[in-house]
Amino acid sequence: MSKFEYDDFIEKSNENDDLDEETLFIVSQTFKAISDPTRIRILHLLSQKEYSVNEMADKLTMLQSTVSHQLRFLKNLRLVKYRREGTSIYYTCDDKHVMDILQQTIEHARHH
Ligand SMILES: [Zn+2]
Repeated sequence: MSKFEYDDFIEKSNENDDLDEETLFIVSQTFKAISDPTRIRILHLLSQKEYSVNEMADKLTMLQSTVSHQLRFLKNLRLVKYRREGTSIYYTCDDKHVMDILQQTIEHARHH
């Protein structure tokens, strides 16, 4: 971090003295959501385009039931959303913040 970025960071951190319970809970749940390799793969796929459960399972060589299970988890946290088309269900990302965090973290991993 540069001196300028650090000052900006400190200023933002000091906006509130402490985080409230609900915010803390959501922040920790969010990090939990993106701490699992399978969920990271799913979110990374969905950052590129909309996918059906079938297509995701194919792309990631995973069982559909595994993909569905993780999608439910992500849906509960409102990180993904779906639309129905005929018998298929298509998923997309539903939160720009978390996708930005994921993208930043991927870049962080790659610059090492
Ligand atoms: Zn980095």
